[in-house]
Amino acid sequence: MTSKPIGVAVLGLGNVGSEVVRILTENADDFEARVGAPLEIRGIAVRRVDGDRGVPAELLTDDPADLVGRDDVDIVVEVLGGIDIPRKLVLSALEKGKSVITANKALLAEYTGELADAAEKSRADLYFEAAVAGAIPVVRPLMQSLAGDRVNKVAGIVNGTTNFILSAMDETGADYAETLAEAGRLGYAEADPTADVEGYDAASKAAILASIAFHTRVTAGDVYREGISKITSDDLETAKSLDCTIKLLAICERIVTPKGKERISARVYPALVPLNHPLASVNGAFNAVVVEAEAAGRLMFYGQGAGGAPTASAVLGDLVMAARNKFYGGRGPLESKYAKLKVAPMGDILTRYYVSMQVADKPGVLATVAAEFSKRDVSISTVRQQGSGDGARLVVVTHLAADSALSDTVASLEQLDVVVHVASVLRLEGTTV
Ligand code: NAP
Repeated sequence: MTSKPIGVAVLGLGNVGSEVVRILTENADDFEARVGAPLEIRGIAVRRVDGDRGVPAELLTDDPADLVGRDDVDIVVEVLGGIDIPRKLVLSALEKGKSVITANKALLAEYTGELADAAEKSRADLYFEAAVAGAIPVVRPLMQSLAGDRVNKVAGIVNGTTNFILSAMDETGADYAETLAEAGRLGYAEADPTADVEGYDAASKAAILASIAFHTRVTAGDVYREGISKITSDDLETAKSLDCTIKLLAICERIVTPKGKERISARVYPALVPLNHPLASVNGAFNAVVVEAEAAGRLMFYGQGAGGAPTASAVLGDLVMAARNKFYGGRGPLESKYAKLKVAPMGDILTRYYVSMQVADKPGVLATVAAEFSKRDVSISTVRQQGSGDGARLVVVTHLAADSALSDTVASLEQLDVVVHVASVLRLEGTTV
């Protein structure tokens, strides 16, 4: 006897939604066997219902609110994008006790709290594996596999566009603008690349990762953010000479302040990464996330962080989980926010800096520059002098120091007569000295 079907509403039929529908339709028997009941698509919400959309026309609707409200819909898959419209739809689904799967990091990074509260109240599931690093399972490992451990750090490359650009600049020596244009031509960068290249997308993912890793609500606004648009081909050249490469990192870390208070840090910026660090060899549009947990040690997750089919894989994994919960009764893990840790300001975080500056080619420059670092208790690890005359350059790499002391030092260097111009300042990650 066939079990009562579980009704699924799919909101969105773009890159991700079309793959969700295709895989779900082509493998309907497998899904039924895995869940215990057939999964039936009740409708697909789009903006444009006319023309051949590659799905049965009778499933299409341009009224997602009506679809979400239908009595025969048990689970809503939200793959629309945007914030305001999906927020209302997801809330309305959860309030009606329908489970929700979403790939929408921008929505979650602002409103997880509100959505999780609604899910908790109506005893519905809210799953979002696809919202961070596409196909790569990282949300469920953090929420479930590591639920018995203490996570200290999550650091990763979670934006494929910027990783594609930085890898290509490293490989070809081309400058940022040229590489961004190429990324656009190849479909790796959107027409308006701001969300990716300025780090907003990675910051949304960092907020989600920090929230689940540290059992604390963190929103995108709590995440310190810098993008890659100021990275030059010279920076990548210098990085190479230091046996490093440059990656846009999302870093979520548990820290203890000098006064012994436990805090968390969530930050996104381009950083020098030593070539022997596992993240240095993650190239092209690939993503990777390294998790450091007290008992488990270091774990690394690697794979395709975007794209229709890879993202659909994560969405469908969540769909099977939510459908099983509907079929057998019960629900998945709830949001865990008991720790309520405060987010430390960037200035309090210990980092290392690489500072490249054009300097006057005369005696005493090095001593004058070094004095600015020592005034603020910033210890220098290496100094390199390159070129001469108008092309004289100093490259300083520091030991760990408070980010505020490092940024004050850079501000004071800019005022020195012997410093013509501070060309580049980057943080160095993946080392502990
Ligand atoms: P997309 O290709 O732009 O598709 C969006 C779909 O939503 C389209 O089918 C569009 O309809 C529909 N839509 C948008 N607003 C609507 C509205 N108000 N009413 C009805 N339908 C509406 O987007 P996507 O790349 O699939 O991304 C979807 C979500 O997944 C986003 O939240 C994104 O951040 C997330 N995500 C995407 C990827 C990826 O690789 N693409 C990876 C991870 C997460 P029309 O087709 O009629 O325009």
